[in-house]
Amino acid sequence: MKEKRNAPLAEAKPKKQKNSASPSKPKNAPKKTTSQPVNGKRVNSQNKTTGNKKRVLGAPKSNNKRVKRAPLPKLKIYSLGGLNEIGKNMTAFECGEDIIIVDCGIGFPNDDMLGVDLVIPDFTHIQNNIEKVRGVFLTHGHEDHIGSLPYFLKNMNVPVYGTRLTLGILENKLAEHKLLQNAKLHNVSVGDTVLAGCFKIEFIRVNHSIAEACALAITTPQGVIVHTGDFKLDTTPIDGEMMDIVRLGQLGREGVLMLLCESTNVERSGHTPSEKNVGVSLEKIFMGATDKRIIIATFASNVHRVQQIIDASINHGRKVAITGRSMVNVVNAAVRLGYMNVPEGVLIDIDEIKKYPAHKLTIVTTGSQGEPMSALYRMAFSDHDKVQLTDKDLVVLSSSAIPGNEPLVGKIVNEMYRRGVNVYHDSSVEVHVSGHACQEELKLMHALIKPKYFMPVHGEYRHLIQHKELAERMGMDPQNIFVSDIGKVIEIDEDGARFNGTVPAGKVLIDGSGIGDVGNIVLRDRKNLSESGLIIAVATVSIKEGILMAGPEIISRGFVYVRENEELMSATKEVTTSAIIHALEAGVDDWGELKNIIKNAISKFIFTKTKRKPIILPILMDL
Ligand SMILES: [Zn+2]
Ligand SMILES: [Zn+2]
Repeated sequence: MKEKRNAPLAEAKPKKQKNSASPSKPKNAPKKTTSQPVNGKRVNSQNKTTGNKKRVLGAPKSNNKRVKRAPLPKLKIYSLGGLNEIGKNMTAFECGEDIIIVDCGIGFPNDDMLGVDLVIPDFTHIQNNIEKVRGVFLTHGHEDHIGSLPYFLKNMNVPVYGTRLTLGILENKLAEHKLLQNAKLHNVSVGDTVLAGCFKIEFIRVNHSIAEACALAITTPQGVIVHTGDFKLDTTPIDGEMMDIVRLGQLGREGVLMLLCESTNVERSGHTPSEKNVGVSLEKIFMGATDKRIIIATFASNVHRVQQIIDASINHGRKVAITGRSMVNVVNAAVRLGYMNVPEGVLIDIDEIKKYPAHKLTIVTTGSQGEPMSALYRMAFSDHDKVQLTDKDLVVLSSSAIPGNEPLVGKIVNEMYRRGVNVYHDSSVEVHVSGHACQEELKLMHALIKPKYFMPVHGEYRHLIQHKELAERMGMDPQNIFVSDIGKVIEIDEDGARFNGTVPAGKVLIDGSGIGDVGNIVLRDRKNLSESGLIIAVATVSIKEGILMAGPEIISRGFVYVRENEELMSATKEVTTSAIIHALEAGVDDWGELKNIIKNAISKFIFTKTKRKPIILPILMDL
């Protein structure tokens, strides 16, 4: 993979002695550079005048040699997702008339969000300031970083910047939402810098469980911010491209104002093992399974993992079939874009697997998280039209369950054991390594960047706090660490950094194709429905004449088994009848009001009898 080195670095002058000698001076002063970024894209031409030359060093007030100039615009940093939660990562940087956004991911619903498919960030603040938005910058192609973009771009078609693989995966999604044609996607090579308003964004290589993941160094008028994205340090990476620790160290030496660092694995000591370790384990598994068909489930986006599975298959004379929509999509994109090396004739169509004996086949599938309807789920429950599992199969779950998914994964594994399938799914065999930095790698990042301020990101509250403690152990001033929350604004100017105010932030729930139409009331109804069932009261009423013409009929679903509770049902019917008659006699002539009266009467009665609160649905027909 070619890597363009950013020109300004090569010419960066050593720091002025005067500056570095005094520890009291902030190291957030933007460095004067003389050359322009390589391959940069100027997004906002009217901002040309705020180029490097005009920038004022962010020196303390005591520096009386410096001519007093108008204060630089304040830098505001706020996350709309990814703090105190897993997923929907999204952080905005706002300075003067410019906003840039880093990532735009989805979250997954909690157990109490029944029937909700996805959770996206609340975009209100961005929407209200859309004329300032210069672009969305993507660190990598994982769902929790790019998944909300179709919903974002639908209303706010701003430029999107990312590496080739990231945009390749995004393109599939945008095509599904019919947004691809008008999308403004800009390919960025690792090492490139992009200009966007008063910001300068440099893409720096990191290792992660997807190829071409990047950290971003964002030069702002107040100083340089480093956002790590998701990362680990892999010294033996599959594509030979190690995290660019040299560049990160260089930035640290030049002075970084703030570090935003991911916190996923902060609870784990040591180092995250190299992806190569999985290759070694796979080799062992393949050697020991000479008479079996091997089925491996992993994340579709883990291109290097799939490559290693294909390599092991080739070594053992197996053909490889791919199943699961996202797996087929990603493998096709990765082969097309040159991220995967697959010799001719190795990949076969899933329809062709019958032509080959079990020991000559590997099947790579989605469903490693136990997702219902995924290919592996359908195999486990005999619902896959091409693959039936038997005791001739060895299944490898090359993944670890995302928090919350454990029961789903357990369900699938049990079902496969029931079919006599041999399953490898835990750490007794190293069939999975994490893509996130453990403590030692986090410490390395802090040591390289040496930021003035630090904000832990990408984690639940306990992760953020433990990351704060890690930074303190490394000598950081606790006052300079910002454990933030979504919507909270961190403001930075020449006088320092502080929390100052909030912007709207929260969860927008996506249910099928509806965006944000699932509110708390709908969720409460669904919860009641699943726990307490439903009672429907159907009646025909002439509201003009104030007469109950027919009914009410009482129908229940999921509430009580009617045959055993005929008494309760007929008593409910009586209560409903008298409620309707009383209301009509009292002159109620509004449908809504009448429905409410019926609802309340039934609800009160059922609760006194059963202590349960089913959903009550009155259906009134006019004559
Ligand atoms: Zn990731
Ligand atoms: Zn992530």
